Amino acid sequence: MPMSQADRQFLDALLAAPSPSGYEQPVQEVVRRYAAEFADSVSTDRHGNVIAAVNPGGELRIMLAGHCDQIGLIVKNIDDRGFLWVQTIGGWDPMVLLGQRVQVWSKTGPLPGIIARKPIHLQSPEDRKVIPEIKHLWVDIGALNGDEARAAVRVGDVITCELHQQELRNGFLSGVAMDDKVGVWTVFTAARRAAAQSPKAAIFAVSTVQEEIGLRGVQTSAAAIKPHVGLVTDVTHATDCPTIDENQHGRIKLGQGPVVYRGPNTSPRVLEVIEHEAALLGIPYQLASLGSPASNDAAQLQLAGDGVAMGLICIPNRYMHSPVEMVSLEDLEHAANLMAAFCAHVSEETNFIP
Ligand SMILES: [Zn+2]
Repeated sequence: MPMSQADRQFLDALLAAPSPSGYEQPVQEVVRRYAAEFADSVSTDRHGNVIAAVNPGGELRIMLAGHCDQIGLIVKNIDDRGFLWVQTIGGWDPMVLLGQRVQVWSKTGPLPGIIARKPIHLQSPEDRKVIPEIKHLWVDIGALNGDEARAAVRVGDVITCELHQQELRNGFLSGVAMDDKVGVWTVFTAARRAAAQSPKAAIFAVSTVQEEIGLRGVQTSAAAIKPHVGLVTDVTHATDCPTIDENQHGRIKLGQGPVVYRGPNTSPRVLEVIEHEAALLGIPYQLASLGSPASNDAAQLQLAGDGVAMGLICIPNRYMHSPVEMVSLEDLEHAANLMAAFCAHVSEETNFIP
């Protein structure tokens, strides 16, 4: 089933809003506007998390979490020739930044810039052997000198790759920061769909901040919500492109449904409900395993309060942490429907003790 126009508009608005960790409010404004259409209440906490509550009086409390922050760069110094030197926000492979168009989010709006390096013709044989590091990269905004650049950009301004998207064959969508704007899309779309099914449980959809720099917003938001059950949606590695070993990383394909995790970071009871709902509705999913805590919000959410029964429903993503991350729109639809069905059908009578 293709994505509805309204659902696609929400996704497009999320992808078009910048959100490097600590600078998430432009994307949070998109989330607040969307959630106001269906939630009983929408709030923003001091950390910057946005929380939408559906049926907040319900006895069983479910927290849905998708992180809205994206990896980016932050301006460290502006040199006398007008070039910007940067530090990373989150985990970048410097190779994928070379040749990129970027946007510097200055106080007057986005300024275009580029990241490149010395042309191949001018590189010595030794130059060509060096693998670039972040400290070797600069951002060129076309300024003539330091004074001009410093008038336009301040230390601490953040930079993203140009926020584009490109639709490819088979409903595959490529762009910047699918990680984890597709997760935010999934949990808020799921909350909306669950709200239309008279849920018994209280549902708190959270657009968490600062995941990419240490799973931070999920901790502060869970402290306020005190959930019994947690469902996290992040992207996970699709392994269906060249050079990735399925035996090491599992067999995960774009377009074959969301990825449901098993392992110590997740609850077998939550998995039972997820698999039951998937079978009932004919929703495809891919099983994956993790022998340790996940490297996403699920790791912290499980430890909130006196323990949270966790589910981890991920979106397959090719080329994670690059400017051309790729997901399947169909996987998003299925993930939202699966999460909505879970929320609509559990209650205080469901057993979440393993
Ligand atoms: Zn992520």
